[in-house]
Amino acid sequence: MSLRCRVVARYGNEIDVMQPTGEILRANLRRKLDDVVCGDVVTVDPGRRIVQGRERRRNQLARRDGFNRLRTIAANIDRVWIVVAPRPEIPRLLIDRFLVGIHNLPAEAGVVVNKADLSRAGGGLLPAPDLSDYAQLSLPVLLVSARSGEGLEALRAAAAGGSNILVGPSGVGKSSLIQALLPGERLRVGDVGQSGEGRHTTTTARWYATGDDAAWIDSPGVRDFTPEIDSVDQLVRGFPDLAEQASDCRFRNCTHRAEPGCAVREAVDRGLLPSARLDAWRELLAGLVPVAHGGG
Ligand code: GDP
Ligand code: ZN
Repeated sequence: MSLRCRVVARYGNEIDVMQPTGEILRANLRRKLDDVVCGDVVTVDPGRRIVQGRERRRNQLARRDGFNRLRTIAANIDRVWIVVAPRPEIPRLLIDRFLVGIHNLPAEAGVVVNKADLSRAGGGLLPAPDLSDYAQLSLPVLLVSARSGEGLEALRAAAAGGSNILVGPSGVGKSSLIQALLPGERLRVGDVGQSGEGRHTTTTARWYATGDDAAWIDSPGVRDFTPEIDSVDQLVRGFPDLAEQASDCRFRNCTHRAEPGCAVREAVDRGLLPSARLDAWRELLAGLVPVAHGGG
């Protein structure tokens, strides 16, 4: 007998899968079928608790670990929400880097700024976070609070249908958000005790089903993220705001560094494009060396 199951989480050589009944089953991976992560669909022999096969993935989100090994975090992702918090500061470059990775998965992208309760509009002391850098991108940028509940309906609506992974630094409130979005689930989150004991850190991605192919996915916090790309075309996908201006550059293959007649630099000078976006472009471009540059 075999069951078609969703992989909820992976722990070493074991995985938790969700059976068609909704029940969770712990199963073992064999060495020849080792590439299985959260979000995969697998067939499992429930009696022997062994994974028999894995369905083809639509996409996968991966990042490099401390040893520069590529690690798949989760598979079959429809939407990636980059979660940030206004304090200590919005990690803009991290957002820019994630956007390149997400647009190349491909998957839909969105930015969630959590802890809105800390800013003045939410009754707190911080000024409202400035998210104008992303206004020209056609992606949702949502200000929410897992604590006060503000913005959660909008987030739920924007995430309806499909699988939604929350990514971002640790401490921004990813687990708290999933908890607030799914009041039925009991996650262990953040400051459980004043003593600092029992602090929970997410070490592996976890699938919280909201429908047949719909879910919230919690993921381990990241300090940085480098998109796995090897061409300028892939980089362009992460910068539709730059690309729109670039159609007016004198050289079709302008890299917007020092070429004459660069419409992107001109747009920045005229205040039409945030300079931080051009800075992010240049930094990511420098990571792509050597970049062919014909000059027109
Ligand atoms: P994660 O590492 O991204 O999963 O973050 P956690 O969900 O563990 O939350 C980290 C800390 O931020 C905890 O102390 C939470 O109580 C706190 N936190 C989460 N959401 C909010 C929020 O909306 N407002 C405030 N003020 N604190 C929050
Ligand atoms: Zn240019």
